[in-house]
Amino acid sequence: MLPRVLFGLLILAAGFSCAFAQAAEEKKAPATEEKTQVTIVLAGGDPLVVDEVTESSDGYWYKRGNMTTFLDRQRVLRIEHPKPPGESTSSEVAAGPAKWKLADAAKVRDFFLAKFNKPLPVATFGQSDLHTRWGLDHRNSMDVNLHPDSIEGRALVEFLRVESIPFLVFRGPIPGVSTGPHIHVGHRSPRSYGR
Ligand SMILES: [Zn+2]
Repeated sequence: MLPRVLFGLLILAAGFSCAFAQAAEEKKAPATEEKTQVTIVLAGGDPLVVDEVTESSDGYWYKRGNMTTFLDRQRVLRIEHPKPPGESTSSEVAAGPAKWKLADAAKVRDFFLAKFNKPLPVATFGQSDLHTRWGLDHRNSMDVNLHPDSIEGRALVEFLRVESIPFLVFRGPIPGVSTGPHIHVGHRSPRSYGR
C-alpha cells in the first residue's frame, strides 16, 4: 500500500517540477536543459541539494539521482524551492506577442468548457474596484481563479501558449498586485489607471 502511494506522490512531484521547468525555460532564449533543484535545510543547518522533495505525514521523501530517501520531519528545518531567476516567490511568466482583446476571451472560455466540461472560473472580467484602487488598468484583461500548477491551470497555460495569448501567472499574493494564486489573461496591467 505505502509503496503505491509513494509512487503516486513521486509522479505528482515529477509533474510539478516539470511545470516549473517549463516556466523557467520560457524566460531564457536558448533551451538549456536545466534542473530545478530543491534545497532541504537540515536542523543542524546543513543544506542538502536534491532533485525532488515529497512531503508525507511524518517527514519528507527526497530524490537524488535515482535514489529516494526518507527524512524524519524533526531533522528538517525548511525546504527551499527553486525560484525562476529574477522573480519573487509569486512569479509571473510569459507574455505572448499576439494581439489580444478582451473579446477574445470567448475562445479561452470555449476551450476550458470543452476540455473540463465546466465553465472557466473567471474571478474578474475587465476592470474591477480592486484593480482601480491599485491603479491597475485591467480593462483589457481577465483573472482566472486557478492555481497555475493545478491540472486545470496547467492546461489553460498550455492553451494560452499555443494560441500566443499573453498571460501572467501568480503563485501567491503580491501586495498591490495580486490577492493570491491566479492566471491573468491579457497584457501586464499598466499602473496608471485613474492616477
Ligand atoms: Zn489580472
